[in-house]
Formats: sequence, C-alpha cells, structure tokens
Amino acid sequence: MAAPRPSGPPRDLRRSVRHPLFGHVPVLSAADGGAPGAVPTYRFDPDYRPPLPAGAVRGDPRRQIFCCDVPRYFYVDLDRTCRDCGERFVFSAREQKLWYETLGFRLDATAVRCLPCRRRFRATRGVVRAVSDASRALADSPHHPPAVLAYARAAVAHQERFGHAPLDAALAALRALARSGAGLLEALYWEGRCHEAAGRARRAIASYGRFAAEAASSRRLAVLRRDAARRRTLLEETSA
Ligand SMILES: [Zn+2]
Repeated sequence: MAAPRPSGPPRDLRRSVRHPLFGHVPVLSAADGGAPGAVPTYRFDPDYRPPLPAGAVRGDPRRQIFCCDVPRYFYVDLDRTCRDCGERFVFSAREQKLWYETLGFRLDATAVRCLPCRRRFRATRGVVRAVSDASRALADSPHHPPAVLAYARAAVAHQERFGHAPLDAALAALRALARSGAGLLEALYWEGRCHEAAGRARRAIASYGRFAAEAASSRRLAVLRRDAARRRTLLEETSA
C-alpha cells in the first residue's frame, strides 16, 4: 500500500511565505538564526535573492529596519498620488533604497507627498519647530543673548509664514536683554523686525534708525545695517 500523501503545501514550501513581488520568501526557523535573543532576529531569510525584474534595484535586508514585515529584497518604482497637490508622482526604487537602507526609515514609512510639496512641508515644519525650540531655550536662559536673538528670529519667520507669532513675547525678551546690560546691537535690529512683522511701521523705522546709528562703526554688523537701511526706506515710502 502506498504511503499517505502529505497534506498542506509541499515540505520545501511550508516554511515560506508567498509574496506578490518576491515569490516564495523563505521563513527561518529558530535554529536557522532566528534564535531568541540573537540580534538581529530575522524571521525571513535575509540572504534570499529573488530574480530582479527589469528596472528593479536590489535591496539589502540587513540594512533595513523591520519587525514583522517581509524585507525589501528589491525595490521597484511606485506610483503615488500627492496628499497635498493631488499630482501623480513616482516614489522611485533608488529613493526607497535610500530611505530604508541609508536614512534608517522604517519599512512602513512611505512617500505621501511629491518632491516640491515635501520641500514645502519640511520648510513649514522647520519654522514651527524653530519657535518651540527657541521658546524652550529662552525659558532656560532668558538673558542669554543667542537664545533671545534666536527666539526673535524664529518669531519673525513664523509671522511671515503664517501671519501670527509671539512677536510681543519676542519684543519683551529683547527689551529684558537690553535692561540686563547685555547691550547687544543686534537686539535693536530684531526689535525693528518684530515691529515691522507686527505691522507697526513707525516703531520699526525708529528701531532701524537707532540700530543704524549705534552700529554705524561695526564691520561685523554691516550686512544687518544695510538690510535695516533698506527696510527703513521701504517702510518710509509705503507708510508716507
Ligand atoms: Zn504635491
């Protein structure tokens, strides 16, 4: 009598997972290197090398951060629709490799914005973060000149970007710095910038004027001085 036929998948396929791109991905048993406590613990064979389709880029699972996902044995260009502008864009194979193997992004991270929208998003996020970072630094050392200037700079950038910012808090910090005796000329320039951003042209003109007078002989401040003069002229023309 013939031996009973095995049920379920054939023995060589039992320890594999069918993947739409990578085919039958071998699953390691604990004895193969997935031993508890071994670092890293691979559930899927990191040395599996499925044939590369045209245009694909080979992936290196040992450089990828994953927990239970199937590693990216190779990358293919992916079509995406941008979350912000609705345009179609390509999340390219090379870019994916960069994300997952060089920049250390998790495999479940994916591109949701086209490149121009991503740049815009990062710049916006940078402006918001700069205010919260500067605010924390200022709370720690309210009379530390670089902390005060950074806070004023961040507030002005936030105002210019979003139309609102803690400009009065920045002005208060600049004045407190002046009172503390740290006679910092840049503080006058940033006072002008805060007033200008808040729409107070006359006060801005006055601050720029004082800055120009007091910083007249400073070579270090020449760039700011020229900028203050240019802003003052513009304000005088538009508010005349
Ligand atoms: Zn876009």
